[in-house]
Amino acid sequence: MKTVVLKFGGTSVGSIDRIKKVCKIISSYKKKKNKVIVISSAMSGVTNELVNKSKLISNNFDKAEYDTLLSTGEQVSCALIAGRLKHIGFKSRSWLSWQIPIITEGPYSAARINRVVSKELLSYLKSGGIPVITGFQGINKSYRLTTIGRSGSDATAIMLAKFIKADECIIYTDVDGVYTTDPRQYKKAKKIKKIFYDEMLEMASLGSKVMQPTSVQDAKLNKIDIQVKSSFNRKPGTLITNLSKSFSDRIITGISSTKHDAKITIEGVKDRPGVAASIFKPLSQNLINVDMVVQNISLNGKETDLTFTIKSDDLRKTEKFIKQNKKISYKKLSFDKDVSKVSIIGVGMITAPGITYRMFKALASKKINILVISTSEIKISVLVATNQVKKAIAVLHKEFKLD
Ligand code: ADP
Ligand code: ASP
Ligand code: MG
Repeated sequence: MKTVVLKFGGTSVGSIDRIKKVCKIISSYKKKKNKVIVISSAMSGVTNELVNKSKLISNNFDKAEYDTLLSTGEQVSCALIAGRLKHIGFKSRSWLSWQIPIITEGPYSAARINRVVSKELLSYLKSGGIPVITGFQGINKSYRLTTIGRSGSDATAIMLAKFIKADECIIYTDVDGVYTTDPRQYKKAKKIKKIFYDEMLEMASLGSKVMQPTSVQDAKLNKIDIQVKSSFNRKPGTLITNLSKSFSDRIITGISSTKHDAKITIEGVKDRPGVAASIFKPLSQNLINVDMVVQNISLNGKETDLTFTIKSDDLRKTEKFIKQNKKISYKKLSFDKDVSKVSIIGVGMITAPGITYRMFKALASKKINILVISTSEIKISVLVATNQVKKAIAVLHKEFKLD
């Protein structure tokens, strides 16, 4: 008898009708004599509404209460799923994360699951029951509710699969797999049959929303295969798995792009040791995530220009920290809010030469200006104007024969 973890995302449980359909999927696994554990997100839009409510109460809403508030969405969807499963004749009950408990470590809003107490769940599964568990949340050692980052139900599913020693972990979402690029943005995107953890991790971190990056990291660390499927149709999905020689003749696997990035340039900064650290220290102390960084070579040996990117939401704060910073002097500070990072990803580029050139040539052929570049072993990212992202994806998709 196999044990399967099934995770349903917000759109999949977005209405009463959708919840009924999801229960049909769950019942098909039960009929095949599997032990089934369900993890659900909140109904689509609900978590965003809760975020907005917190902002209306306070522009500095208490962090612990924020997690308590945000975790309520999943309670509703899980109760509805368990209730429906009972209605159609199955043994089922909802489990809130603290009832299990799912134990987390780390700050509110960005905690990580480090343990799931599995004893009661295992005996419930053995008795034929279907536990329906709230994704996205846990409790910390002070018994406060925590959340594990937006889209965190993916990570809940993977950690449940680990602690329950499940045979399969299936992420049901609103697309039938991981595509070469977001299929809603680019119609010629193709479904990927199998993708390596490292590639999926890069794609997710670089803006492909289909999987939460932390969850892919958890899957890689614990060697848990993930299948991504649609809850809307029965088409075969994508397998996210360990690197194997058998399926790597491709150079580029996918293309990701980000939204809501901003670029900051500080011109004429004194070029002396420690200056970059002085600029970034207050940003790091205030949890502002700095992404791409470039520093020009100083022409006169005295001054240099520094460019970096952050999320647009952090732009005002960052501007304030730079202007207040007594440890640095500069000539000019400028911002660009409408920029996006476009990245090509693939383990194949480790061995294939000339990929960077091909990428830049393709972008140049469409007159797309590259603002900043960053690379790693398996990805090349460029910063471009947001209104050129679509064009960039199309030309790169074609250049690397993903169409
Ligand atoms: P869920 O609510 O099920 O967790 P998400 O909205 O988090 O679903 O993720 C699914 C969405 O991810 C899709 O609707 C799709 O637009 C987007 N997406 C972005 N990049 C990709 C990609 N490379 N492949 C598939 N989907 C992608
Ligand atoms: N409901 C949470 C969110 O919207 C978690 C999830 O969907 O996985 O971020
Ligand atoms: Mg998601």
